[in-house]
Amino acid sequence: MKLSVSSLVFALLFSFLLETSASTNENFIHISILIYTSSNSSYSSILKSSIRNTRFSTPSTLKPQVIVTPLLVSHIQETLNCSQKHGLQVRVRSGGHDYEGLSYASPVPFVILDLINFRNISVDVKNSFAWVQSGATLGELYYWIANKSITLGFPAGVCPTIGVGGHFSGGGYGTLLRKYGLAADNVIDAHLIGVQGRFLDRKSMGEDLFWAIRGGGGGASFGVIVEWKIQLVPVPSNVTVFTVNKNLEQNATKILHRWQYVAEKFDTDLFIRNRTVQASFNSLYLGGKDKLLPLMQKSFPELGLVSEGCI
Ligand SMILES: Cc1cc2nc3c(=O)[nH]c(=O)nc-3n(C[C@H](O)[C@H](O)[C@H](O)COP(=O)(O)OP(=O)(O)OC[C@H]3O[C@@H](n4cnc5c(N)ncnc54)[C@H](O)[C@@H]3O)c2cc1C
Repeated sequence: MKLSVSSLVFALLFSFLLETSASTNENFIHISILIYTSSNSSYSSILKSSIRNTRFSTPSTLKPQVIVTPLLVSHIQETLNCSQKHGLQVRVRSGGHDYEGLSYASPVPFVILDLINFRNISVDVKNSFAWVQSGATLGELYYWIANKSITLGFPAGVCPTIGVGGHFSGGGYGTLLRKYGLAADNVIDAHLIGVQGRFLDRKSMGEDLFWAIRGGGGGASFGVIVEWKIQLVPVPSNVTVFTVNKNLEQNATKILHRWQYVAEKFDTDLFIRNRTVQASFNSLYLGGKDKLLPLMQKSFPELGLVSEGCI
């Protein structure tokens, strides 16, 4: 039922809700679950559902006039259309992890286009690529890749609740960075709804725009990216992770200093990041500990990694 809704009815409802605080029209009730205004009982929970920085969610923060959770590309197009007609800014939200709250706060009247329903992931193991919609989380992406193949991975962030939409359009770095670069480096096509509502793929948007939506941190400046085609990368079926904690008595300062000089020279299969104050060195190695331990002995013996510390 929901999927058969015409974009025209959607547009009418959108306009209608902007002019009245509560919809009483029976014809609109079946799709009103996609559009929320402050008169709707779910409005507040939908608004807060993926807010990660509560500094941008205070009682005095300006709230969106409407939250739209589209199911179809045509709903996105109509939302852009109607928002322009009503002079409203559009804030696009995928995972809501924006550090500055850009996907759910604005100083001017606005609409949130929340891609929570756009989270399909299809993995093509034979050709090592996947299509992932922007509203999916990194955790969901990793899960579905691993579900289909234990020797394919994707180089993106470490936090599983990040949304693909904001992450890929901002760059996206994680434990596979040293070997395979950023998430954005491994995007091979994308479907974008341009600001005028046009549906574009890599070919029709052209290489300049395709470049701009990958890594500029401002995908929303160019439209709404609906889905991404990504290159999957080979990974061994067994990897090793470790965390080594060092305090001041255990030479944390000296080891941290040393890490700054050796980290960029490590074997590219090895990623080690440092989480400052604690001097906690956590790592992912693309292989077993039999190879990792001699590698560490050669490249960073000061850390004192032992077999028992490896999982
Ligand atoms: C707890 C936490 C852990 C993090 N860990 C990492 C990490 O390991 N590696 C790393 O690289 N980064 C990390 N980040 C940063 C994160 O990658 C960025 O904040 C990213 O932009 C979040 O994407 P999102 O979709 O969740 O956010 P959102 O708030 O939904 O979006 C972020 C920005 O992108 C825009 N946008 C979102 N979706 C679309 C779309 N479909 N089309 C066009 N524009 C869109 C939004 O309008 C907003 O401007 C982390 C952030 C947090 C809060």
